[in-house]
Amino acid sequence: MNAVPKIGFVSLGCPKALTDSELILTQLSAEGYTTSKTFEGADLVIVNTCGFIDDAVKESLDTISEALSTNGKVIVTGCLGAKADAKGHNLIKGLHPSVLAVTGPHATQEVMDAVHQYLPKPHDPFMDLVPAAGIKLTPKHFAYLKISEGCNHRCTFCIIPSMRGDLVSRPIGDILSEAAALLDSGVKELLIISQDTSAYGVDIKYQTGFFNGRPIKSRLFELVHALTELAEPYGAWIRLHYVYPYPSVDEIIPLMATGKVLPYLDIPFQHSHPDVLKRMRRPASGERNLERIMKWRAICPELVIRSTFIAGFPGETESEFEHLLDFLKEAQIDNAGCFAYSAIEGAEANNLPGMLPLELREDRKSRFMAVAQAVSAQKNKKLVGSTMQVLVDNAQSMGRAGGIGRSYRDAPEIDGIVRLIPPQRISKTFRTGEFIKVKILESHGHELVGMPI
Ligand code: SF4
Repeated sequence: MNAVPKIGFVSLGCPKALTDSELILTQLSAEGYTTSKTFEGADLVIVNTCGFIDDAVKESLDTISEALSTNGKVIVTGCLGAKADAKGHNLIKGLHPSVLAVTGPHATQEVMDAVHQYLPKPHDPFMDLVPAAGIKLTPKHFAYLKISEGCNHRCTFCIIPSMRGDLVSRPIGDILSEAAALLDSGVKELLIISQDTSAYGVDIKYQTGFFNGRPIKSRLFELVHALTELAEPYGAWIRLHYVYPYPSVDEIIPLMATGKVLPYLDIPFQHSHPDVLKRMRRPASGERNLERIMKWRAICPELVIRSTFIAGFPGETESEFEHLLDFLKEAQIDNAGCFAYSAIEGAEANNLPGMLPLELREDRKSRFMAVAQAVSAQKNKKLVGSTMQVLVDNAQSMGRAGGIGRSYRDAPEIDGIVRLIPPQRISKTFRTGEFIKVKILESHGHELVGMPI
């Protein structure tokens, strides 16, 4: 191997493929790799292929054969990498099983992942001070994983799309690489976030991306499934936030029922009455939410639903508000938060008729919270006597003096906690970031009290 790792690079195909090559070469050089003009002089060869016409396919396949025979370590990327043979299997892998990794086009990150795997990065005294998972502001044992930015909806009370623009989904390979690095660095809980998690991949037409050379569709179900595979060996939790009740979410409920992903959904319903939802211009406002929730609970009885609501939206009548209170009770929303409506500069809802007096908005919020807390308290009461898995957020004196943790029912900072009393056996200890088994002894509203066993 060369003292500074050298890569042979062949770029075939159209200008779009050329741009991909430029991106890969830029990244390679930013990371300190150099290039070799010959296959023999390289430590590894990357072939960016074209699969458009027969001649281009032949030229690509000939180049791969030559690189394999003269060098042996070959990564294939580009359009031909995404092609399947008559049986639906990857064409390149079928013809050349010794190729190290195969990706489709626009896959800089996946190509870089393969390069890192087979030809480690040269040491960089500055970058190597930064952990692989990047710099995180959360405690070491949980991390937020953003899967997209922006939003295609135009809810009348919200100005996010005007600030952040339309939905832009991250490449699935990038998300999975980040998740793998986080899990490797000791993260025990991945919190999936975005503005609209269920819409993941809509903007890129659910295109197939690559992770470790494996094709994966950019769709929420496939993403969650791949994340569960990554998290399983670590026993880590995956928690979904900002999900809208579209029919596509139905597919994920069975994964929750098997415990592969936490049976927890954060769905910002905002209201229940169809007319208010229309005035809010909410996504999935036409869906029958109550029916859908019942169906989900029949498949996965442990399912926890957390949600946020707005009380006193412009024009909200008393009967519309009572509809919301009934929904809260019937849907048995486990953890609910509520805001009294307030105008946000630039939001369309400011122009809606029927702005309610502040006092009335605040009064409805209080009435809402009284019902919400009663539902939560009742649900928590049923947990007394059970044994739950708890992730320790804060262990005092190695747990000998007790601590604070959360079960699958609670996301950090927004939901409840499990207060941990010191274990009975003095020899028993636990640390922050550890999963422990806890016997639930008491419930106080959102709080549970339990003893590690
Ligand atoms: S779904 Fe609605 S509330 Fe959420 S970010 Fe998009 S526009 Fe705003």
